[in-house]
Amino acid sequence: MSDLHQRLLAAIEAEMIIAVAATTGPWTTFDDGLVWADAPGDPVAGCADLTNAAHIAAQDPATTLRRLAEDRDVLARHPVCVDWENCGGAGSDCHGCRGEFHPCPEILSVARRHGLDLAAPS
Ligand SMILES: [Zn+2]
Ligand SMILES: [Zn+2]
Repeated sequence: MSDLHQRLLAAIEAEMIIAVAATTGPWTTFDDGLVWADAPGDPVAGCADLTNAAHIAAQDPATTLRRLAEDRDVLARHPVCVDWENCGGAGSDCHGCRGEFHPCPEILSVARRHGLDLAAPS
């Protein structure tokens, strides 16, 4: 597993912990700017700007967890090639998309989605 994979998995795990701990959705915006979860209790957020409230409601935990699970699946499909003698790739290639160096465009896309600074030492 590459350092970038490890950094991304750590970022995904950290976001998953937050999403799992948050109030279960779906989250709904009301005309007063409050965002309520489909569970008894306090509102999960409140904004004077209804567009902000709508944005928050759209990021409910289930939605976030689906996105993170997809990112984790992409990472699993695009590891550094460790079986290069059998698959024909090189040790610096992506095993998922042969012919591409690792990190391949798919991994770079996941990294950008998570705001990782790809210029920072990995
Ligand atoms: Zn790849
Ligand atoms: Zn391979």
